Amino acid sequence: MPDLTLVMLSAGSSSRFHHKAKKQWLRIGDIPLWLHSTNTLSQLHPFSKIIVTVSSEDLPYARKFSDSITFVEGGLSRQDSLKNALLHVSTPYVLISDCARPCVDEAMLKRILDASPQAHCVVPFLNVVDTVAYEDATIDRAHVKLIQTPQCSSTALLKQALQTDVEYTDESSAIKALGGTVDYVLGNAHAKKLTCKEDIPLIPCLKAPCVTPMIGYGFDVHAYEEGKPMRLGGVEVHPTIGFRAHSDGDVVIHALIDALLGAAGAGDIGEFFPDTDARYKDIDSQILLREVCTFLERVGFEIRHCDITIMAEFPKLGHMKDAIRFALSKTLGLGAHHVNVKATTTEKLGFVGRKEGVAVSATATLNYLDWKNV
Ligand code: MG
Repeated sequence: MPDLTLVMLSAGSSSRFHHKAKKQWLRIGDIPLWLHSTNTLSQLHPFSKIIVTVSSEDLPYARKFSDSITFVEGGLSRQDSLKNALLHVSTPYVLISDCARPCVDEAMLKRILDASPQAHCVVPFLNVVDTVAYEDATIDRAHVKLIQTPQCSSTALLKQALQTDVEYTDESSAIKALGGTVDYVLGNAHAKKLTCKEDIPLIPCLKAPCVTPMIGYGFDVHAYEEGKPMRLGGVEVHPTIGFRAHSDGDVVIHALIDALLGAAGAGDIGEFFPDTDARYKDIDSQILLREVCTFLERVGFEIRHCDITIMAEFPKLGHMKDAIRFALSKTLGLGAHHVNVKATTTEKLGFVGRKEGVAVSATATLNYLDWKNV
């Protein structure tokens, strides 16, 4: 079937998964679940266009993974996200799936696409083998279908069917409500949707996350400025000589944030906290670091180790290194032995040697969350 757009819905809040990491960001090997599911389908059919819906908070990071996917901001519900995606669909048919349904195989997709010209919506289903009761009555299970995705719909009819306040849980329900035709083809029990942790063993196609650690590097400099306290790693190390900066100028935390984001392939501190944004004026950088930690957890990482080198002629920091280390380990939620802080001078050379400011370099090591054992 030519002229077909793929829409992958990946903007959900993952609330039923009950973990700090969203299920769509669990790593399958080395890539997130949403990309794994998208690649699986895109390798089975030459789609004209591939659209992935992502929540606004995850959109900038998702965009780092592909320049050939069209990323669309999701809405509050599955249906809102789908409506946003459909604004970018111009092909006559659209295949819509959930990113958490990763094990759709070639035969199942072929059954769906082969049937598509004959109905406004083609839906894969599973028969029910157990006895089915509805309220107090046992009903004939031959009339019961368990509906799966992906579903292939007429784009024009689906757009029309979704012009309503009624919330549908899938496309076939919306199209049926408008009087469109729906065709059912056999699905696949392996193409189960990952909803809660108990589903993990039931989805056998998912590879465990890659265990190779990722290392990031960060560097930052700030010039001294009188009349404010100096904070390094969240610890006040001087009461009246601080740093010129939009935030509190905690150069240790800024370098560390860049190291953490570097390891995650997530860009830099300026992309997360622009220095033109009034919200970050004079902000305590520990708040920014906590926000980065929350982001990393949400997108499937664990922080393993950080190593920091502070280059300063002033103030002398030898006696403060441990205080900075313990403070950072608490903010990061890491064992104190996994945060290392070193202090050095630059032998009176350069801007650090001339006592114009402080430079910091940092490395951070991350792992993917071992979600098979959460
Ligand atoms: Mg900075």
